Amino acid sequence: MSIFSRFLPKRKPPELKNNIPKEKENIRKTFAVYCAKYHKPKNGKLCPACTALLATVFTKMDRCPYGITKPICDRCDRPCFGAKATQDFLTIMK
Ligand SMILES: [Zn+2]
Repeated sequence: MSIFSRFLPKRKPPELKNNIPKEKENIRKTFAVYCAKYHKPKNGKLCPACTALLATVFTKMDRCPYGITKPICDRCDRPCFGAKATQDFLTIMK
């Protein structure tokens, strides 16, 4: 800390960015990779289980109490998917 630091202008708070669309796209891609590798769905799409989990995750993201200010879910102190779905989600996202 320099003695001049307190004369420096205060840093502007970071602008809130809505990362949700980008985050959703990342999650979708990760699910696709995971599902193709471990569940081997026949039609090249997500298996029913992953489709359901993804839908749950997206719905909860839209309703998340932290909204667009939230960091990614694995750092969230209030996992909003429910314990089971959160566990499944984090397993896939690893
Ligand atoms: Zn799957």
